[in-house]
Amino acid sequence: APILVWFRRDLRLDDNPALAEAAATGRPVLPVYVHDEDSAGAWAEGGASRWWLHHSLARLGEGLKRLGVPLLLRRGPAAEMLAETARMVGADTVVWNRRIEPWAARQEAAVAARAAGAGLVARAVGSPLLFEPDRVTSKLGTPLKVFTPFWRACLAAPPPTRPIPAPERLIPCATAPAGDALEHWRLLPKTPDWAGGLRDTWRPGEADAARRLSRFLAERLDSYAGDRDRPAVDGTSGLSPHLHFGEISPRRVFHAAFDAPPSAGHDRFLAELGWREFSAHLLMRSPDMDRAPLNTDFARMDWRSDPEGLEAWRRGRTGYPLVDAGMRQLWQTGWMHNRVRMVVASFLVKDLLLPWTDGAAWFWDTLVDADLASNSASWQWVAGCGADAAPFFRVFNPALQGEKFDSDGGYVRRWCPELARLPDRWLHQPWRAPSQALAMAGIALGRDYPRPVVDHDLARKRALDAFSRLRQ
Ligand code: FAD
Repeated sequence: APILVWFRRDLRLDDNPALAEAAATGRPVLPVYVHDEDSAGAWAEGGASRWWLHHSLARLGEGLKRLGVPLLLRRGPAAEMLAETARMVGADTVVWNRRIEPWAARQEAAVAARAAGAGLVARAVGSPLLFEPDRVTSKLGTPLKVFTPFWRACLAAPPPTRPIPAPERLIPCATAPAGDALEHWRLLPKTPDWAGGLRDTWRPGEADAARRLSRFLAERLDSYAGDRDRPAVDGTSGLSPHLHFGEISPRRVFHAAFDAPPSAGHDRFLAELGWREFSAHLLMRSPDMDRAPLNTDFARMDWRSDPEGLEAWRRGRTGYPLVDAGMRQLWQTGWMHNRVRMVVASFLVKDLLLPWTDGAAWFWDTLVDADLASNSASWQWVAGCGADAAPFFRVFNPALQGEKFDSDGGYVRRWCPELARLPDRWLHQPWRAPSQALAMAGIALGRDYPRPVVDHDLARKRALDAFSRLRQ
């Protein structure tokens, strides 16, 4: 009898345990992707992720076709769709690779229950993690809540197993049912078509994920430790959306980097993969981490409501050049440099004193790498309420961050071209520039570029006051 392989956030042929296991049986294989927005609820893909998903599924379908089988697309509750598909082709088994989001775990439980009722064998085979939570604990067996000991324990644990190659060929089912046409899912924007910047920046799919990895290792890994904090430099891997959609396995990335010659960049890069693990373990342990602060004191925080401030932040019109450059990079390309993510998040939470969940929701809709674990953990980290978080009272000064990490202004000039002719000295704080310097650069503040929506020093004080009320 045929075997169903249920594809999820593992949209690849390489190092795919569920696919490899099905192929090894020598039986016919039917790969299925189920678009199940009801199970995902509030965490169904945002706009940018829908764009990515469309192209990623198209590439996966091409890859499977080369191996001899079609990808079946179904839309609806996964439990029902899989049971129905199994019945149609006479399959007796369904296998998949696990996801770690709480809603996805519930979805898997529903699939398993429905399958059991229908007499199907249903089994999760692989995982999106390098290290499973029960293998990485303190000596007492409790979870590690601070990153450094957590990552040390990961590196001391048995290393993740080596990646497995893609199957060379798959045997198709005698009859494959007709599925949906990808176009009918309407994952791509129509009017307006805002995806031009995404198309210019990314090529979803496992071929490009592999290319990015080898280019990063050859050209950027050695200088990663220093370059990773300079947003004007292409110093990081750009693998986050590929990792999120499972177009490349974390094992493939981990072992490739681990085998590279030792350097400061090498250790630092592996540690960033460690933050991905840390975030995932946190979400598995605290399933409401997407909305509830891990430090429960913060549930009493006196956040403001400021729709105009929120809109200025979203559109990159706060008057703080590094913040605006970041928000525009996000809007245009679906990605933002990590250093700048920290600065814009701090600006929203501390300078505007708006709830971190508002920022996380915007990121969810606009990031191509939007990931429930990494996004929630990172927002909580910046907001000061997360695990091993930056303390709330440490408030980033966006102008100083700009001068430090974008000292020659390459990043701000790229994303805020209206400021391009302003000398470096004023670039990160145009409101301080003498009127002559502004005139020579062709800028009228308030017309060509906004005046600051808040005064950073006053806003900082307001945030610290709110924080001290929290501790009373
Ligand atoms: P590299 O520097 O090349 O790092 C390699 C990989 O390590 C990344 O692809 C990513 O998978 C992982 N990684 C790196 N930094 C982190 C981190 N701090 N936390 C978790 N994993 C990390 N990352 C996401 O993948 N999805 C998100 O939704 C997301 N939201 C964020 C929100 C905020 C407020 C902040 C401050 C950070 C967020 N990050 C998120 C983490 C980080 O910014 C991105 O993973 C990174 O910028 C991706 O670029 P890269 O692939 O070039 O990273």
